[in-house]
Amino acid sequence: MVSSYNCTVIDLHALVHNYRCIKERVGDAVEVMAVVKSDAYGHGMLPVARTLQAEGNSVFGVAEVEEGVALRKGGIEGRIVVLLGVFADCFTEVLQYNLSPVVFDLESLKGLALAAEAANTEIGVHLKVDIGMGRLGILPNDAERFVETVKSLDGVRLEGIIGHLPVADEVDQNITLAQCREFAALVEKIDPQSLSAAVLHVANSAALIRYTQSRFQMVRPGISLYGYQPAEIDGSKPLDLKPVMSFKTKIVQVKEVPKGSGISYGHTYITGRRTKLAVLPVGYADGYLRKLSNKAEVIINGRRVAVRGRICMNACMADITDIEGVQAGDEVVLMGRQGNEEITADEIAAWMETISYEVLCLFGGVNRREYR
Ligand SMILES: *Cc1c(COP(=O)(O)O)cnc(C)c1O
Repeated sequence: MVSSYNCTVIDLHALVHNYRCIKERVGDAVEVMAVVKSDAYGHGMLPVARTLQAEGNSVFGVAEVEEGVALRKGGIEGRIVVLLGVFADCFTEVLQYNLSPVVFDLESLKGLALAAEAANTEIGVHLKVDIGMGRLGILPNDAERFVETVKSLDGVRLEGIIGHLPVADEVDQNITLAQCREFAALVEKIDPQSLSAAVLHVANSAALIRYTQSRFQMVRPGISLYGYQPAEIDGSKPLDLKPVMSFKTKIVQVKEVPKGSGISYGHTYITGRRTKLAVLPVGYADGYLRKLSNKAEVIINGRRVAVRGRICMNACMADITDIEGVQAGDEVVLMGRQGNEEITADEIAAWMETISYEVLCLFGGVNRREYR
């Protein structure tokens, strides 16, 4: 079968390694919700979830109901938490596939409870409290009353209380510590009987690494599973993570051009010497954004070389003047390791003025994947 020259390679051994690092860090008393939303940050939701399930993981986080259904159809058991909640048009799927939605408004909570009762079943819900993210959730003062409502409804049971920390990856620690305290305080006010089956959780990767106070009964790592530390982890011992995704292509032409040649659209690069170029069949349609023009580097024959000129829709040029023996057909590493060189998603993110998360979702989202 013919397939694109461009391909992401997903190293499932690295995924398992990262998962074990996280488990070891938080200890047996703290559960792990593996966040596999957005096709597991571009790594492929099902292969990632199946690998982690085989490692013993039993709680998964997705953004939408559709993803939860796909996990169940793919053989994922255990708990599947739908982080963005649910509308009435998905109640049937929530019940049929036993998903655990996040809830934050009484209307949909009551509707869900009625639907569950009618189907003679009970659905676990996670109450979302906005402890400072300014995104989804009820305000902390309303938590007690909301929990009472959940208790009064037959079709639903409180399976968790969830908060989210907006600045866990920033240098200043005071805000996050205060938000963890606020979460603990609101939980204190709730009748312990209502909480008996509820798991408390607020920590993403940054929080679980930097703040033991944020771990409560469960942590929700996403980016760290895929091998990246969140931006700032000053002071805290970093996890020994391995990047899971690499991104590769293959040279389609090697050629020499004279000094003074303009390269690619707009001639934004003019060669300052006689230059040997490798033409690569990768461009912004493959997620290798135009923003990387004249900025990115790639690895060829174990050496880092510069991308010259604008990145086109399906092509770009690397300067291989200083390396010997390069031929059309040779492998090029756009992200990942070759020989002693490595280009990480963090480095590409810096060139793109974004974060590793976006690079992984982007490359993984539009390219073929191979699993190791
Ligand atoms: C995406 C997400 C996470 C995972 O965050 P990372 O920074 O990738 O670890 C955790 N919790 C919620 C609610 C999320 O949406």
